[in-house]
Amino acid sequence: MSGQSLHTMGQQHGRRSWAEPWKIKMVEPLKMTTREERVSALEEAGYNTFLLRSDDVYIDLLTDSGTSAMSDRQWAGMMLGDEAYAGSRNFYRLEAAVQRFYGYRHILPTHQGRGAEHLISQTLITTGDHVPGNMYFTTTRLHQELAGATFHDVIIDEAHDPLSQHPFKGDVDLVKVQQLIDEVGAERIPYLSLAGTVNMAGGQPVSMANVRELRALCDANGIRLMLDATRMVENALFIQEREEGYAHTPIAEILLEFCSYTDGAWMSAKKDNLVNIGGWLAVNDRELFDELRNLVVVYEGLHTYGGLAGRDMEALAIGIEESVSDEHVRSRVGQVRYLGELLQEWDVPIVEPIGGHAIFLDARRFYPHLEQDLFPAQTLAAALYLDSGIRSMERGIASAGRNAQTGDHNRPKLELTRLTVPRRVYTQAHMDVVAESVKACFDARAEARGLEMVYEPRYLRFFQARFSPL
Ligand SMILES: *Cc1c(COP(=O)(O)O)cnc(C)c1O
Repeated sequence: MSGQSLHTMGQQHGRRSWAEPWKIKMVEPLKMTTREERVSALEEAGYNTFLLRSDDVYIDLLTDSGTSAMSDRQWAGMMLGDEAYAGSRNFYRLEAAVQRFYGYRHILPTHQGRGAEHLISQTLITTGDHVPGNMYFTTTRLHQELAGATFHDVIIDEAHDPLSQHPFKGDVDLVKVQQLIDEVGAERIPYLSLAGTVNMAGGQPVSMANVRELRALCDANGIRLMLDATRMVENALFIQEREEGYAHTPIAEILLEFCSYTDGAWMSAKKDNLVNIGGWLAVNDRELFDELRNLVVVYEGLHTYGGLAGRDMEALAIGIEESVSDEHVRSRVGQVRYLGELLQEWDVPIVEPIGGHAIFLDARRFYPHLEQDLFPAQTLAAALYLDSGIRSMERGIASAGRNAQTGDHNRPKLELTRLTVPRRVYTQAHMDVVAESVKACFDARAEARGLEMVYEPRYLRFFQARFSPL
């Protein structure tokens, strides 16, 4: 549906559109580039969109991390920063906001999500442990591994099938968890690592029924259930839309109920919580909290700031409150859906159902002639940038890294290029431009030749790897 047809449809009888529940007060001009400029920028960046300068990017869909637009209320809150080293007033505001909207008892601020992942992994994991989770996330798994654990993917099989229409592709397969318990023993499993929604599966949600069953399984085996709450607000919308009994339950209530089945959570506040930097860690267990509160001082800062300025914590507290509003979440996910539906209409292969924060182009079906070792998803990200200056991100073989034992590439089933939509930043017209550029790359797909990796860093290689075209 182009902007034009949308306009025409607006005049049709009975149509009711949704719109963003905000208006724009300040604008940031975008820079347009020529194709020649993009060719040279991409070469300089080693064909890795992470290495592009943002000044060379037109519409930036690299990530929804730290890229949200803050509200006027959040900016006003920035002026109320209490920059005391200890006991900042803004910390208590943040603590109260997490307690009220997520329901956990004890809260620590961290500089961002991985700071919280580091603390929880180091505190709960002993070398030789096993951590089951619903598909890996890059930094989460790395911190679990650095703490000495082996990660086990226990997500349902449907999650690995980009065409499965399962409504909750983020669900954990309880049989897989039970098998792991039988194999290694519950005492070697410090916690189950549950993420809602599941980024690497395409922003797919976990059902309330699943977390309830997980709670029972964990209780029966004395295993903690820890939540990666980074996109849990978006997960709550899917529960409202798809799970029986929740159609009239506000997002905030769904969020609280879901979290109540877990023992604690880590958060990248740069996503759902609508700030540009920040994170938090929350647990209910007082003894565990005491250990975490001690460790935060070593790596992040005193337990009442954890690497954040007072003003950051104020903006975060306000962002949490705004992030659970039904109108906000509907328009946020609605914009992602609008982009996805345009692409579906043009038969561009994407992961279905459309997830919460991003459209994932299925590079295997986009470029069926490229084998996975030629980095098809990375190739597509480069093609899209060359076409229009739109920046996307690889989520495929480059992101999956190497097997620690064999040294060979991990070869994930999903080979995806992610178009991640920042919150409250772009308009529907931007989404039209994005869809049309993807379509242009799709029409030219036969010309793609793939990439070879010419520089590979040791950790999280996708961030800094360099490629060259074949
Ligand atoms: C971004 C992210 C993290 C890590 O958080 P940072 O703030 O980037 O350190 C962890 N888990 C998920 C699901 C994420 O998306």
